[in-house]
Amino acid sequence: MTPNQSTQLSNDIIAALRKALPNTDNAFTPLHEPTFRGNEWTYVKECIDTGWVSSVGSYVTRIEEMIAEITGAKYAVAVVNGTAALHVALLLAGVMPGDEVLLPALTFVATANAVRYTGAVPHFVDIDSATLGVDARKLGNYLYEIAERRSDGWYNKGTGARLRAVVPMHTFGHPADLEPLQRICERFGLVLVEDAAESLGSYYKGKHTGTFGTIAALSFNGNKIVTTGGGGAILTDDQAIARRAKHLTTTAKLPHAWEYSHDEIGFNYRMPNLNAALGCAQLEQLPRFLESKRALYLKYEQAFSAVEGVSLFKEPEYASSNYWLQTLILDESAASARDVILELTNQAGLMTRPAWKLMTHLPMYAGCPSMDLSVSRSLEARIINIPSGSALGA
Ligand SMILES: *Cc1c(COP(=O)(O)O)cnc(C)c1O
Repeated sequence: MTPNQSTQLSNDIIAALRKALPNTDNAFTPLHEPTFRGNEWTYVKECIDTGWVSSVGSYVTRIEEMIAEITGAKYAVAVVNGTAALHVALLLAGVMPGDEVLLPALTFVATANAVRYTGAVPHFVDIDSATLGVDARKLGNYLYEIAERRSDGWYNKGTGARLRAVVPMHTFGHPADLEPLQRICERFGLVLVEDAAESLGSYYKGKHTGTFGTIAALSFNGNKIVTTGGGGAILTDDQAIARRAKHLTTTAKLPHAWEYSHDEIGFNYRMPNLNAALGCAQLEQLPRFLESKRALYLKYEQAFSAVEGVSLFKEPEYASSNYWLQTLILDESAASARDVILELTNQAGLMTRPAWKLMTHLPMYAGCPSMDLSVSRSLEARIINIPSGSALGA
């Protein structure tokens, strides 16, 4: 695009955003703001009034019950953040130092970091432009090429490393195509671990994300659809895994009236009661948040229908997404305008952000194994997230 065309497209995008978001003329509109319109104050105050702010208190149990109920997972274990949830999920999936774990190149850095915390090596795979999640067909073909079966499992022929797990991520809340991924995991003896950090309230064929793998991680960071300030959860249907998750995230302390006895190296990953209290109040409002986010999507759909050069990302056919972050995809021909668009929209007080850099473009992961990443690379240059807070759709 010529500089003039880029400016024109930016102005069209700003006009469409203003049309969908009336009353934002003089205000700054953040990318994603939390909404506190329920019992947040009451519950948090109760923690302070009773003194139960930290590692003991009833809200932790309550939030775990609420998460299990909402997602349909049999067990939920509340932890300090989504990254910690992923770390422990991978350990419980049996990931060992030196193993390879397959994950999308287009993700938040925490997915890859959690893999490294276990001592395993991230092995990056490509995504599908229709879902923004792992391309199952491409992954399957790739594994037929690079994997070899040995007596105890499947190995990467090239590196000699054990292939242990696949970690799909539900990008911006849109479910990855999970059933084909489940089949691939079965075929190659891989454990399915879902990074569902962004997809609370998102369903794949009517079933909540995070309930398709052996284990999954949620995040309740301040920018997610529901926040505990900072927090996360581990989901599983397996009682033994759930018990281990609880044990490992509470310093592996053996229950006893007064003795400090620990039977392995655990983690201090438990969610404090104060954060759980905030989260309970937030989870009560999830249905409303989901409604507002869908309403905002529809407003944007209308506003952007006439803008040439970009399209608004729509949930995959099989999915009901939470529309956590609303997403514009630039046409290939408009990719060169991305930075001008980012510059001018932010200048106009409308916060926009590009997608994360591909993990393979970060210094610590540049040398990791990966398949052809052409779709990830193309999308990395064309994604722009636009204001998405729940309040905007109300
Ligand atoms: C937010 C997020 C995480 C990590 O969650 P925190 O609670 O911030 O640690 C992990 N993966 C993805 C894809 C995320 O968006």
